[in-house]
Amino acid sequence: MMDLRELYQEVIIDHSRHPRNFQVLSGANRHAEGFNPLCGDRLTLYLIVDQDIIKEVSFEGCGCAISTASASLMTEAVKGKTVTETQALFENFHQLLTKPDSPKDLGKLQILAGVRQFPMRVKCATLAWHTLQAALENKEEPVSTE
Ligand code: ZN
Repeated sequence: MMDLRELYQEVIIDHSRHPRNFQVLSGANRHAEGFNPLCGDRLTLYLIVDQDIIKEVSFEGCGCAISTASASLMTEAVKGKTVTETQALFENFHQLLTKPDSPKDLGKLQILAGVRQFPMRVKCATLAWHTLQAALENKEEPVSTE
């Protein structure tokens, strides 16, 4: 078992304290709300999607270090990608968090692989991604991880 301190690596701490793209996005044409009742993480995600490409993405909300860092890293990872690429990325990311020895090279998202050791935290790390999917599908109801 990994120590919890090891999970909170420098990059995660940096992204949780100084989240990237942390703002309301003016001109957003998609948005969705997500909630993780297990931990109390809440976020609202804003997107500008133009012809299947995520042109801009931002979020705001409050949650634990893992949920905030994961949302911040996600906004950096999906900006400029197509909806299809984004869905494939989420699938790979989810595997990274749930399956041991997943071989995927996910760049910076790889940092969150340690979450696998803490099943309670997987929902914190995937909240932003579930919310992203809801925003892309134009879902009206808030997303809950439960
Ligand atoms: Zn959390």
